[in-house]
Amino acid sequence: MSEPTIVYRFKNGLYINLTNRCPNLCVFCIKTKWHMQFDGHNLDLQGKEPSAQEVLALLDKELHRAPVQEVVFCGYGEPTMRLEVVLAVGRALKKAQAAGEYPPFRIRLNTNGLGNLINKRDIVPELRSAVDVVYVSLNASDEEQWRKLLRPAPGYENGFASVLDFLKKCSAAGFERVAASCVDQTGADPAAVRALAASCGACFNEREYLDEQ
Ligand code: SF4
Repeated sequence: MSEPTIVYRFKNGLYINLTNRCPNLCVFCIKTKWHMQFDGHNLDLQGKEPSAQEVLALLDKELHRAPVQEVVFCGYGEPTMRLEVVLAVGRALKKAQAAGEYPPFRIRLNTNGLGNLINKRDIVPELRSAVDVVYVSLNASDEEQWRKLLRPAPGYENGFASVLDFLKKCSAAGFERVAASCVDQTGADPAAVRALAASCGACFNEREYLDEQ
């Protein structure tokens, strides 16, 4: 098997693969179906999660190679399982940007929205100092559907309310953009998910169901 990829380019962004751990097992998750591969990269960290220093060194190399529009915390796992690294990397990037070391780019967190439950505290004020944009994978318009589609692990079965609360807190916190998403073809009604996102003060992104690699 090829070496695990920690930082990779995709479209106009640089993506950071921090962990393979996630409290959900979504029916639409591509990590198992695509055997931990994505766009030619092996995202299987094989239990060796990178440190903030490793991530920053890899980003620095790429950012000097060619500019990007955004840097995104999003691999085959839930980034807030490694909140301390998200915060350290995001804050260091912001500091470097302010010092003019890199051309401008946005910092985005892609998350399942369970970060407050995972970390047992309200993480939104800390996130605000490290990222500009938050995308929450919502995918359901009610708790029953959320459980059915996202298949949370024991301890997270009641996480839907926490995801909505996280969305509301993010929307009130002044990020550049907060959006909830819904993957199509899962049985969830995108219009209902959009309405729920709007009731939490968030925008909406519909995402394509990924099947073939
Ligand atoms: S939350 Fe994301 S990483 Fe976790 S199982 Fe769902 S799609 Fe996969």
